[in-house]
Amino acid sequence: MAVFKPENVEDFYEIREVLGSGHFGQVRRVCERTSGTCWAAKFMKLRKNACSRLGLERSSVEREVEILQAVQHPNIVTLKDVFESRAEVVLILELVNGGELFDFIAEKENLLESEAIEFMKQILAGLGFMHSKNIAHFDLKPENIMLSDKVSAHPTVKLIDFGLAYFFNQGEEYRSTSGTPQYIAPEVINCEPLSTAFHSCCVLSVLRLSGLSPFQGETKEETLGNIIAMQYDFDERYFSTTSSMAKDFIEKLLVKNPNAVICFQPITRKQVANRNRSSINMKTFKKFNARRKWKVMFKSSCNDFFPLQRQCESDVEDTESKPASLLRRRLSSSS
Ligand code: ATP
Repeated sequence: MAVFKPENVEDFYEIREVLGSGHFGQVRRVCERTSGTCWAAKFMKLRKNACSRLGLERSSVEREVEILQAVQHPNIVTLKDVFESRAEVVLILELVNGGELFDFIAEKENLLESEAIEFMKQILAGLGFMHSKNIAHFDLKPENIMLSDKVSAHPTVKLIDFGLAYFFNQGEEYRSTSGTPQYIAPEVINCEPLSTAFHSCCVLSVLRLSGLSPFQGETKEETLGNIIAMQYDFDERYFSTTSSMAKDFIEKLLVKNPNAVICFQPITRKQVANRNRSSINMKTFKKFNARRKWKVMFKSSCNDFFPLQRQCESDVEDTESKPASLLRRRLSSSS
């Protein structure tokens, strides 16, 4: 277990601008006083006492730290240090400078399917490594897939936010009710034992290929209902530039409890040519991304202005919306 240093983080780091914010605090750029090297500091408020409804339990932060230490991989953000005071814990993380992968894609005029696959491979490499350590992320969504930098033509994918991640013991059945509706797996909604399957990853692939969120309904309940029913289709309006191999890949993965080994390598010359011609539906993708960004911004400003209300709203939603209730271990974002 990492040492939670009792010293004041500001003695070692100069605190700079806000990079982002989550439910339990802000992430800020910080510069090490001795070397000038910059890092990202994730400030997480701790629960004052057992009755308090605000902040995180220390055990939950400990789990995030333990998991970050166990997943040292080029496609996963690195943890450098941990500081603790009475009110908060500060994680010093590798500074991920390239912004979100989805924003990077949305800024492009065109993206070939083969380029999208390169990103997918990196996401799967990070996830595969986590799974080899019996860890599942459980909150994979566009906001948590970042890029190393803005300068290189082929930036490295970095997975972030391990607040909902879980360490499986051998043979253990784990049921979680955490997650973000659009990306959540059917077994989560059905309260069935979880696997380290790639459901969210597949939803993200559909999004990248078409710009469509495959299960998105008008309401959270409808979204969750669509996931349970595995109700989606390849509407020609959105998938006309998608290769049949990519559709096949999605069909094989978007099933309940996928356990087949799926190959996504083009074999014949025709398949190679098809893939090279196929591209991402940029128009719909850009629209989806703009809407997504707006929602994230709106939620984050609500968090800033009405932290107490947010907490209460989440609690009401947790206990009242059934059967699709998401009783969150940690409050995650909602669709
Ligand atoms: P949530 O409430 O969504 O679960 P959280 O409180 O767990 O969020 P993170 O998702 O880890 O917090 O971080 C919030 C935001 O801060 C991210 O969306 C991202 O914009 C930014 N961020 C997090 N880690 C880094 C990093 N290592 N480098 C740069 N920016 C980061």
